[in-house]
Amino acid sequence: MEKLTIALLGGGVVGSEVARALLTQSDTLAARVGARLELSGVLVRDASRPRDGIPQELLGTDPEAVVAGADIVVELMGGIEPARTRILTALSSGASVVTANKALLAQHFPELITAADDAGVRIEYEAAVAGAIPIVRPLSVSLAGDRIQRVMGIVNGTTNYILDQMSKEGWDFDTALATAQELGFAEADPTADIEGHDAAAKAAIIASLAFQVPVSLDDVHVEGITGVSADMIRTAADQGFTIKLLAICERVTGPDGGESVSARVYPALVQDDHPLASVSGAFNAVFVEADSAGSLMFYGQGAGGAPTSSAVLGDIVSVARRKVLGGRGQMPQQVRESGSILPIARVTTRYQLTLEVFDRPGVLLRVAEVVATEGVSIELVQQTRLEDAAADGTPRAKLVIATHSALESSLAATVDSLAALEVVESVKSVLRIEGA
Ligand code: NAP
Repeated sequence: MEKLTIALLGGGVVGSEVARALLTQSDTLAARVGARLELSGVLVRDASRPRDGIPQELLGTDPEAVVAGADIVVELMGGIEPARTRILTALSSGASVVTANKALLAQHFPELITAADDAGVRIEYEAAVAGAIPIVRPLSVSLAGDRIQRVMGIVNGTTNYILDQMSKEGWDFDTALATAQELGFAEADPTADIEGHDAAAKAAIIASLAFQVPVSLDDVHVEGITGVSADMIRTAADQGFTIKLLAICERVTGPDGGESVSARVYPALVQDDHPLASVSGAFNAVFVEADSAGSLMFYGQGAGGAPTSSAVLGDIVSVARRKVLGGRGQMPQQVRESGSILPIARVTTRYQLTLEVFDRPGVLLRVAEVVATEGVSIELVQQTRLEDAAADGTPRAKLVIATHSALESSLAATVDSLAALEVVESVKSVLRIEGA
């Protein structure tokens, strides 16, 4: 039987799972591929540290020696450099590449795809978006004959766990984060997760794939979940909503018929009966809307060594099969050279505003006038008397306003005008309503 050699760059959480699977499931994999997959080496920083189930002689710290002669290079080291250079070198030497590196793909997607196409080889990256969930292949292959309109994903398990705990236990953000860290759902430095950067990297990849337009991390509008309070979650629940950190990638057709792409990440209100609302704990889910297929939902584990290794091994089998069959076996992966990215100010969506107001006669009228002046139309208002009166004894009330679809820029102007009203004590929150 033909033999294909595999070099692993990285033997950490994901890499060590992949290495063990290659070593222990070699007969099964050989039967699937039609060739034996031989692990030739694992690049690590510290080769003296034993790794469970990986023979010490396979570990190495010299990248050239580890990848020499490899048919497939699997990059699981993470970060931008030296991962980018190692991948480009592997591609130009004729090796196909499998990577799970969302941060790298979000910044260098066109460069990497072009390098693979120029070399006549493949780069596969199923594990880079939502771990074990097959989403890259459905977007790029299964739905290639359809027209995708929108993809909305819960693509960061840490933030979903935190928001879910806040909702179920009534905790504030800090308590939920500390618990997530204790249980290993959040890293010691949680910045990339809670500020939305990890989800934004995945949004950039999803948008590039779904709309064949190069979308980089800088094109994605990002807001994290640090501003979400227990009170916002309670108010959302009272109105029949759940707050989720969503990565939203959307095809937008302008009044002139021109198309652009919006990619954005923020905490949003999702109606309780929407499939994404029931995604709990650290799970991920991606909701796709396409012209012919309609709505599709992909759900599963978005991280972890074993789940992520499932996606990596699927890619390894896929590129190995193509090598056995001969050539790249598929059309080039190239995306268009450029596309129009919609700035956040031009995005249209629905909103929920929560205000604390002085409960004087005419307050609703004043608020409604200001909202109308900015061209935003109100769908629903709910007023609730607050227990505490103002210092001068004026009663206070909470106003929850849901709007019809409005431009982000109009909404921002509305919020500024509302905040300046003498009857408005404070604007407690502004949240987008998505998926309705
Ligand atoms: P990890 O546990 O930190 O492992 C990284 C590995 O790469 C380690 O073995 C490390 O060596 C090695 N490495 C890093 N920099 C190196 C360098 N300059 N030279 C040589 N070796 C180097 O990372 P991971 O969690 O497995 O993640 C790997 C990739 O998968 C990342 O791109 C990540 O975003 C992606 N991913 C991870 C998950 C997940 O759940 N963990 C999910 C989806 C995608 P040492 O062991 O000697 O330190």
